[in-house]
Amino acid sequence: MNCGRILWYNTRTMKNDCIFCAIAAGEIPSFKIYEDDTVLAYLDINPFTEGHTLVIPKAHTKGLVDTSDETLAAVVARVRKVAAHLKEALPCDGFNILQNNGPAAGQTVMHLHFHIVPRYGSQPIVFESRKGDMEHLKVLAARLAMG
Ligand code: AMP
Ligand code: ZN
Repeated sequence: MNCGRILWYNTRTMKNDCIFCAIAAGEIPSFKIYEDDTVLAYLDINPFTEGHTLVIPKAHTKGLVDTSDETLAAVVARVRKVAAHLKEALPCDGFNILQNNGPAAGQTVMHLHFHIVPRYGSQPIVFESRKGDMEHLKVLAARLAMG
């Protein structure tokens, strides 16, 4: 993991100190591609690869072991749905699912999230973020938005 990530938000506008809760509440913007009553999916602003997407429960939970079976089942089902969509819509050749738990494991946002990291051809499989181009992410999110 690379430490040069930019967190794209203004902490003064947040009702609590969790950026993903603020995104789920619509208090700060995101490059949304999927939403339903329980789950939200949006592009990572510091992507590992083109189309790198985060899937979160709207209700705050910190990590895998803090999450109820019911919530986890709902989130994982949406991870599958969004990943299947990305595979066709990008398209990509494969994808990694990554889910970090605790700072020692590289978790930087303490709200449960699954990374969907699209993979292309024989590109090397590295887990390293780069600062995203916001204009490109905006166009990509519009292209990938699920009905
Ligand atoms: P993790 O290291 O598993 O906690 O991953 C957190 C991810 O959230 C990182 O890849 C960040 O680039 C991403 N991230 C942080 N803030 C935002 C944001 N406002 N919108 C989208 N992704 C974000
Ligand atoms: Zn939260």
